[in-house]
Amino acid sequence: MKEQIHTIPVNEAFDSGDECPFCWLERQAEQRAIRFAAGNGASYMEPDVRAVTDREGFCREHLKKLYDYGNALGNALMLQTWFAGILKDLEAEMDDFVPPAKRGLLPRKKPQDAAPVSLLDWARKRQDSCYLCNKIDYSMEGYYHTFFTMSKDAEFREKVLKSKGFCLRHFAALVEQAEDRLPNSQRDWFYGEVFSLMKENLVRVKEDLDWFVGMFDYRQAGADWKNSRDAVPRTMEKLQGLHPADPPFVKEK
Ligand SMILES: [Zn+2]
Ligand SMILES: [Zn+2]
Repeated sequence: MKEQIHTIPVNEAFDSGDECPFCWLERQAEQRAIRFAAGNGASYMEPDVRAVTDREGFCREHLKKLYDYGNALGNALMLQTWFAGILKDLEAEMDDFVPPAKRGLLPRKKPQDAAPVSLLDWARKRQDSCYLCNKIDYSMEGYYHTFFTMSKDAEFREKVLKSKGFCLRHFAALVEQAEDRLPNSQRDWFYGEVFSLMKENLVRVKEDLDWFVGMFDYRQAGADWKNSRDAVPRTMEKLQGLHPADPPFVKEK
């Protein structure tokens, strides 16, 4: 398949040796999004970008990553206008808030008498919404799309089968995306060989983890660690799709 702008990163991900090529791509997409939001390009000074960060906000995980990235003034400016909007909305929600009926001696019947939820709904939506998550999701959609397009290429299918499979999170996403995007000609490959690849590689990492635990048994003293030294971070990646051993991503000087 001809190398194109979309296929290059996907090929690189499958060449990377990562326990999940989509975790590898997600890390890239995340760093790109953080760099765009808070990096030297100062996109936070662009009114149209700021309007979006004000509307979408940032999740817990990404606030921490923005903090670690280290652009204090850039963060302060983004936080300032986002915060102002939250305060304004909160005031409006509080003005409209109807307190729930007093608790009586009898337990309240739900849902008729349940507390009004608009303020709660608003608060939860604000906390779940994230500019960086949205940007990353958009990139990932593109990568899934490219993966299934590339699956028509025999050389790429071979490369996938030589990879280490996927984490559970991205495997689930692939299975979901396959409903719309998997070419009919590749059903046997995906539901057969790729499913086997997934299973075999989970078993492999589980065995590495078992070996790691076994090394703490005194009867194993002096034995070879084999491939188990980093079994804990690799297991964490397989189960939840993260690179726990990554150092914080920090702003380029
Ligand atoms: Zn993953
Ligand atoms: Zn986020």
